[in-house]
Amino acid sequence: MVHELDDFFEVVTQDADLASGSAKSYPIVVCKTVNGLVDYVKARRNVDSCRIKIGIDGGQGSLKICLNVEESSDERNVINDSGVRRSLILALAPNVSENYCNVSKIWNLLKLQTLEAFVTGDLKIINILAGVMANSSTYPCAYCTSSKSDLGEKKGLLRTIRSIRRNADLWTRNGGIRKNAKKFLNCAHDPLLEGEEEDTILCKCPPPVLHIFLGIINRIFNAVAKDYQMESEAWASAANATRHSQFGFAGRHCRNLLDKRNILARGPADKYFKLLDSLQRVVDSCFGVALLSYYTKPSRHSVMVGSTQDYLRHQNFTF
Ligand SMILES: [Zn+2]
Repeated sequence: MVHELDDFFEVVTQDADLASGSAKSYPIVVCKTVNGLVDYVKARRNVDSCRIKIGIDGGQGSLKICLNVEESSDERNVINDSGVRRSLILALAPNVSENYCNVSKIWNLLKLQTLEAFVTGDLKIINILAGVMANSSTYPCAYCTSSKSDLGEKKGLLRTIRSIRRNADLWTRNGGIRKNAKKFLNCAHDPLLEGEEEDTILCKCPPPVLHIFLGIINRIFNAVAKDYQMESEAWASAANATRHSQFGFAGRHCRNLLDKRNILARGPADKYFKLLDSLQRVVDSCFGVALLSYYTKPSRHSVMVGSTQDYLRHQNFTF
């Protein structure tokens, strides 16, 4: 076993709310110097310019914070460097529940405020990092101020670090009463995402495209399976995709399903082929790592907007 990174880590005891609902001191493994670890990884991989990604995952009752150092000069390497096999764990807190209080303590221990990084996580974690209340709130979106009843219909204003900080402060000064939180757009805490006051959450914390992609493909597959069982079986077989009874299709299988959408074309499930085709264009346009030229060239941009509108219109299918 290789121990070359041992000196970067230590075990500390931290007060935490546990997944069981009780609170007590708990040992947590943390990285002592994230900046030092980043420098070490860059030197070992002989990388100069790089993109730092912090991933945070609160699944299965544990909190885990990971680091990926992606070489920014080579797009092919980004794929390798962003993979789970190149992730380094910065903190691991077993049985600790996913809430603002616990996440902020570990965030501060790691001094992640001093690191210029993209942060990724699922929608629940992104709300925690943004200081916005849960996804079931009246204003549930960490990115904008659209209300629950307007989601998907009306766009809200983009939330900034300043707007959340100010609303959370006002809510606290008005007594911090939960049922009044909606008057303050459900802002409850200072965002943990550091940056300029005017930075939007959207820029600091890109939307979790993998989770979104998995959700969409699984929903489309369920819709096909409900009405066209034979076609859905042929599609899954062509994609060599197997469904987990609880979690549905995993990422690789979802990508294969999208690749093999042709199997549905010109048959009874043709409308789903068209829907998947539109989705493919949305994925090509805006699910990538880099900001594509689509955003700067008006003609290409309109292709992307057209595809998105096309996809959204198709979404009127009842799933
Ligand atoms: Zn939003």
